[in-house]
Amino acid sequence: MSRVYNFSAGPGVLPEPVLEQARQEMLDAGGAGMSVMEMSHRSKAYDKIIADAEAGAREFLAIPSDYRVLFLQGGASLQFTMLAMNFLHEGQTADYITTGSWGQKAVEAGKIEGDAREVWTGKPSKFSHAPDLASVELTLGKAYAHFTLNETIQGVDYMADPPAGHDWICDMSSTIGSRKMDYSRYAMIYAGAQKNIGPAGLTLVILRPDLLDRVPAGLPPMLDYKLQAENDSRYNTPPCYSIYMAGLVFRHWLGLGGMDYVEAANEEKAAILYGAIDGSEGFYKGHAAKENRSRMNVPFVLPSDELTDAFLAEAKGHGFMELKGHRSVGGCRASIYNAMPKSGVEALASFMKEFAGKNS
Ligand SMILES: *Cc1c(COP(=O)(O)O)cnc(C)c1O
Repeated sequence: MSRVYNFSAGPGVLPEPVLEQARQEMLDAGGAGMSVMEMSHRSKAYDKIIADAEAGAREFLAIPSDYRVLFLQGGASLQFTMLAMNFLHEGQTADYITTGSWGQKAVEAGKIEGDAREVWTGKPSKFSHAPDLASVELTLGKAYAHFTLNETIQGVDYMADPPAGHDWICDMSSTIGSRKMDYSRYAMIYAGAQKNIGPAGLTLVILRPDLLDRVPAGLPPMLDYKLQAENDSRYNTPPCYSIYMAGLVFRHWLGLGGMDYVEAANEEKAAILYGAIDGSEGFYKGHAAKENRSRMNVPFVLPSDELTDAFLAEAKGHGFMELKGHRSVGGCRASIYNAMPKSGVEALASFMKEFAGKNS
């Protein structure tokens, strides 16, 4: 067996010890005599698995104890619609701050449900930076203000929590669990699991409990946060295996030292990769403004399409996979989520240096 370095933006790399543990428990999970995939979601054995996953999330992420944690489906994309259905009512406005492709999709979906307004967009500057949220003029139309903490495609991250005092709703899909965050600053956050938490199929939602009082009657049951919360994420069959895997991932990081460990490791890895870009005398160019550089997704371009193609082909030969940039922006992108080992980033950085030396 040989594992590659997987720089995919999502689904992304998972910690190898977690995959090993999942393999060990594949046929008999915790003495149940069956796989987690075969278990009733209402069994005693599964009660423990979902409770462990929630406890792990709470401890690893430092979620305020009164906040609710929900395990839903439909990805972050369904949240774009669901949050507006639940929290943007007749006569209200919601503010959207757009720093990239996902934020654009969020506001478009919001507009279908109600008066969603884009109050700031980074489009004129090609989505290369994020604003200071304290200085964005909000309409404060009673609903919420939405933003995307890290734009996965453009690699633009605010690198700060929003100011207190507003009901911020935030898409954290690609940066959740990568550094310390103050969840009490947010009314709600959501994240598709497949970037930094576990396998696809699971969407993590963390919300302040009073938000549930704003959910109107008569929503489609599956799209009703209140109903989902009242049923502890088991109104219907939840994504059982993905929740189990997320629980293993949280335990894995906690075992290594928790968020302190993860944050320091991510800072170090990002510095190595941006160092390779900045040290290339312009051969590689990053996309985001320095203060908004994502530690998770690092897009960069080479001097020409020919060199980009050659770079990607040679990289593949070295076992560096999924480095092609998103089709909407081109170039390259290295996603270096929590589970990407430092050795992978170091190897990529030295390959980049060598490639630039040969081709400039
Ligand atoms: C990947 C991603 C999405 C879309 O997630 P799905 O789970 O595929 O719906 C939305 N927002 C951000 C920031 C993402 O990185």
